[in-house]
Parts: sequence; structure tokens; C-alpha cells
Amino acid sequence: MKRIVVKVGSNVLTRDNGTLDTTRVSSLTDQIQALRKRGIEVILVTSGAVACGRSLAKAAPGLDEVQQRQLYAAVGQVRLMDQYYRLFADYGINVGQILTMKKNFEGTEEYNNQRNCMEGMLESGILPIVNENDAVSITELMFTDNDELSGLVATMMGADTLIILSNIDGIYNGDPSLEGSRVIERVSHEEDLSAYISAKHSSAGRGGMQTKYEMARRLAASGVRVIIANGKRDAVLLKLAEAPESIIHTEIR
Ligand code: GLU
Repeated sequence: MKRIVVKVGSNVLTRDNGTLDTTRVSSLTDQIQALRKRGIEVILVTSGAVACGRSLAKAAPGLDEVQQRQLYAAVGQVRLMDQYYRLFADYGINVGQILTMKKNFEGTEEYNNQRNCMEGMLESGILPIVNENDAVSITELMFTDNDELSGLVATMMGADTLIILSNIDGIYNGDPSLEGSRVIERVSHEEDLSAYISAKHSSAGRGGMQTKYEMARRLAASGVRVIIANGKRDAVLLKLAEAPESIIHTEIR
């Protein structure tokens, strides 16, 4: 691994009551710091703004659903970045925030601008932290979810690996809730696992395994290795980097 994108889902970052899981954020910060120390360039794509904002603020009764989501995103994004800022600052690492939108990946100018910005940050030792600009990006302007966004960022930045951390261990060869189902360790993008994958969506975020898998397959076909693992497991990033056989996950090549 030389340059990686780590995507963390809302379910990993929030507790059951919806508040930000500061213990988890702290552990991920420690691990990202350790990866950087080993010379790996990391770009973090983080969800959790909307979930976090929802646990903090109460929208006025007259607001429609879209306005509520915008408000929660705006409030939650600050909370999220505040947490990352403080924890990385303890290691002397500066973080920078990139809020982006789908259309920024469609034209050349914005595309180049955001890439140059992140390249400059990496060169300067600053950790880019990316999320969708959820306060502005609504309905048809939105990415399918942050999994799609993380795939686009990995391609744009020429990352060799994308690690998607959610609250499940990987892609199962059957219904994950059934005994006997197990996580598929390695799969080629040429194989089609669609039949195994449930269409269920995440409870806190927008993503699901189906979109993760479709994106992972496309990305793997273009030469980026994709790893799907459980962000709630101890030292998941360190294990994936150092002893991948010691942690359950799915690798798509
Ligand atoms: N960008 C959204 C957030 O930060 C999450 C989108 C998703 O669930 O993938 O809350």
C-alpha cells in the first residue's frame, strides 16, 4: 500500500443512540496516524454528518424532509470535523476538509481543482478528509452514497487501495444472518457475486452492500484493489496493512 482511501460509514461512527462514537473515531485516528508513519498516504472519506447532526439538533416543526437533512448535515459536519481536528492535532497532524458534489466529478475544471488541492495537501503532510456537501447537494444532485464518492476519489487520486469500513465483515456467500454463511475472502472482478448480496440498506447512512459491490467491481477492473471490512473490529486498518490474514474481510481485485 502506498496511497489509500479509507471510507468510514455512518454506522461505524455512531453509537446506537445516534451520537458520535468518539471512542471509535479516536481508534481510527490512531490507526490512520500509524499508517502514515509507515509511509502510506491516506485520504479519509467520512460519512456520519447527517447522523451526527440528527442527534444534536432539532429541526423546527415546519421544515420539510430535505431542509431537515440539510440542517442536520450542516450541524453534524462541524461536530465530525471538530472531533477529527482535535484527535489528529494531538499527533501534530493537520486535517483539511473537502466537501464535494457529484457534478464536481463530471466536468474537468472542478475535478482538477479538487485533485490539485488534495495532492497539495498530501505533499504537505495534511490529511484530506472528504465528505459530500450534503447541505447543498440534494435529491438528484447527490451521489448514490459515500461508497460511490470514495470510489471516485480513489480513481481521481490514483490510490492503489480503497478500504471501505462498514459494520459488517465483508461480502457473505449467503444471508449474513444465517448460520453457515461465511465471508468471501477474495474475489476477482470477473466473477459475479450479485446473487449473494442482499439489497438491504444501512440503518444510519444511505449505502448498502449492493452499491458497495458494484462500485468495488468497477474499481477493481480499473486496477484499484478494494477491501470491505468491519470498522468496528479492533485495529482493523493496522491488521489489513500488516497481517491481512488475521482479520476477516473481502478483497476484490
Ligand atoms: N454524506 C452523508 C453523511 O455524511 C452520508 C452518505 C452515506 O450514507 O453514504 O452523513
